[in-house]
Amino acid sequence: MVGPLGLELNSNMKKLISQRKLEANRKNSVLGSQATKDKFLQPYLASPNHCKMCGTMLPFEKKKNAFCSKSCAATFNNTGRVRVPKYEKVPCQHCGTLVSHNKKYCSITCSSTSRTKYTPKEAEQVRKNRTREASAAYRAKLRNQTPPDADRKAIAEFYANCQKGYEVDHIIPISKGGLHTLSNLQYLTITENRKKGSKMVPAEGFEPPILRL
Ligand SMILES: [Zn+2]
Ligand SMILES: [Zn+2]
Repeated sequence: MVGPLGLELNSNMKKLISQRKLEANRKNSVLGSQATKDKFLQPYLASPNHCKMCGTMLPFEKKKNAFCSKSCAATFNNTGRVRVPKYEKVPCQHCGTLVSHNKKYCSITCSSTSRTKYTPKEAEQVRKNRTREASAAYRAKLRNQTPPDADRKAIAEFYANCQKGYEVDHIIPISKGGLHTLSNLQYLTITENRKKGSKMVPAEGFEPPILRL
């Protein structure tokens, strides 16, 4: 008779049986190993084995081991051993100092000096060009983000009146679409300005000018 509960009953019974079997096996094996131990322990203790390295008596459970510990095995196996490097060292491609076979350069300095495409003088020129391009791009942005009705004279005055140690900052940064208008300008100390970067930190009570596209 296989009812709707038949399957469940079956699997429960199976579980029970396998549990009992498991228990019986465990009991037998414990008894078995105990019996074996009892049978062989005394003869072993009469003439025990010793660690090949330190001479410590090996316990019954480890009687087939050569050593009492990994440390003893390592000491025994590595005594007098000369480690031969697998690979020859290779010279640094820039200065010739010997380095590991998987390295090209001995140091970051050698690596960057050797891999750069430019001589120091050329590199300086490239840096200058990049700065020039960046500031030209910034000036173009300033022009583009100056509304037609902006008071250019007032802006120029604001810049001219900047005290020593301060910089003119765009409250909404130009890079974030801020406008080049008097109401978007503030004085910040150089440190404050560097800290601000292109984040927006409006002064208290400031209302941002909206960019009209
Ligand atoms: Zn030992
Ligand atoms: Zn080098």
